[in-house]
Order: sequence, then C-alpha cells, then structure tokens
Amino acid sequence: MTDTGVIGVGPLWVGTSWKMNKGLTESRSYVRALSDHVGRKGLPGVQPFVIPSFTALAAARDELGADSPVLLGAQNAHWEDAGAWTGEVSVAQVKDAGAQIVEIGHSERREHFGETVETTRLKVAAVLAHGLVPLLCIGESAEVKRAGESTRFILEQAAGALEGLSAEQLGRVLIAYEPIWAIGESGRPATVDELREPFAELGREYGGRMTGLLYGGSVDLDNAEELLGIDHVGGLFVGRAAWQLPGYLRLLEIAAAHPKATG
Ligand code: PEP
Repeated sequence: MTDTGVIGVGPLWVGTSWKMNKGLTESRSYVRALSDHVGRKGLPGVQPFVIPSFTALAAARDELGADSPVLLGAQNAHWEDAGAWTGEVSVAQVKDAGAQIVEIGHSERREHFGETVETTRLKVAAVLAHGLVPLLCIGESAEVKRAGESTRFILEQAAGALEGLSAEQLGRVLIAYEPIWAIGESGRPATVDELREPFAELGREYGGRMTGLLYGGSVDLDNAEELLGIDHVGGLFVGRAAWQLPGYLRLLEIAAAHPKATG
C-alpha cells in the first residue's frame, strides 16, 4: 500500500491542542459549535479531536455529550494514579474528566518542564493501562536538523517512549512528528521535501503497527492539503490555525475532501 496515509486503513486524524489558552466560556462555546457542526455522525474519513486545558476538559466533555464523534484529549498527565505530586494531574484524573487521548512529550514540555524519554515512556505506559490513546509528540531542534541528525533523533525519541510495548499496545498509539523549528510563532513551515525522509523512516519503522502518524508544525489552510499528501502522513496536529473554530472547521473539510480520507 503506498501513499495511503498510514498504517492500516483508518481515518485521517485532525486535532488541535489549545495549549494554555481559553477559559471555560470560550472553551464551551468552541466545543458546542464544533459539535453542532459535525453532528452525531461526524465527518466521513476524518477523526476530529480537541485538546483543551485541564480546567476545561469536563466542561468540554459535557458540551460534546455521550458518543460524540469528536474525541477529547489532555495536554499531559502524570504516570502515577494518585499521591504526593503537588500540581500534577494523573491519567486517571484526566480520564475521569473526559479525556480519551493524552498528549505526551510535546517539545514545550521537554524544554520547560524536564520531560525526558524516560518520563514519556512512563506516561505512554500509564495512558495505555487506562485504556486511553497516547499521542506521543516527537521532534528535533534546528541544531539537530543542521547536524543532519533529524531522523536518527526522532526515531530514538519514539523508540525510547515506546520501549517494551506489546504489538496490541503499540497498535493503540498515535505519534505526532512536530519539528521544533517548525512549530509556534517563531517556527517556519517545513517544506514537503524536508518531511519526506522523516516520514518515510517513521513509516518504515511503525507503518501498519500503530493507530496513526500525524504531522504538526505551522499547519495552516494553505499547506494542509499538501502535507496530508506526504507518504505515511495520517493526519494533522494543529495549534494556531485551529484555535478559532472557523480555521479548524476548514481544516476538517480539507481533510474530508482528501483522497486519503477513508469513510
Ligand atoms: C504545536 O505547538 O504543537 C503546534 C503544532 O503549533 P502550531 O500549529 O501553532 O505551529
């Protein structure tokens, strides 16, 4: 199978993390309007997901209601279920608040909060143990890219976090490749040519064995379609371009119209 997006036959995953943005009112109204838009049936061939702040998770869950086609996620979670970990929130707690996906190892968490390959491994295991979907973020810095080490670096990040998983557990994982130099305000969009090799290698390693392989980093309405066209890209993980609902809805439409979308 070539150029099919990934990794088994499945939907294109298109999701957004809001990072440390949006209070309760804004979170509720975004999710309510999204839910109205996609209805109970969702969009054929596309799996939408939204990752609000912890504080808005339960409210977002309530707005979506049961059996929504939109999945909800948390931006992080601790690997222990409970205990003396002041300021942390456990996988059990985010599950209780409505999370079905848990984002792990975003580069901002690695840079500012000491997330390591070892902590990502513990978190992936905890998320799987609770029956949720780990969304493992991997990505190299500009320095690593300049040294020509991008692919080696991201494969090591992935292998470290996924070490010891059974085939069944691995089959429930999502990976988002998000080069650090391509994300956020200071990032510059990656070109399709720059992304071909990392995705080819990730596809070689994990193709057919995981739920999906996503791309993230300065995705917008202009580049989404061509990014989805890269071999082994099975979805998009989006920040700024999806923080306002019309942008996210447009991205969902672009994905739904893509030949890789399997309804
Ligand atoms: C991100 O920070 O993970 C991200 C994808 O952000 P943006 O789309 O805004 O570059």
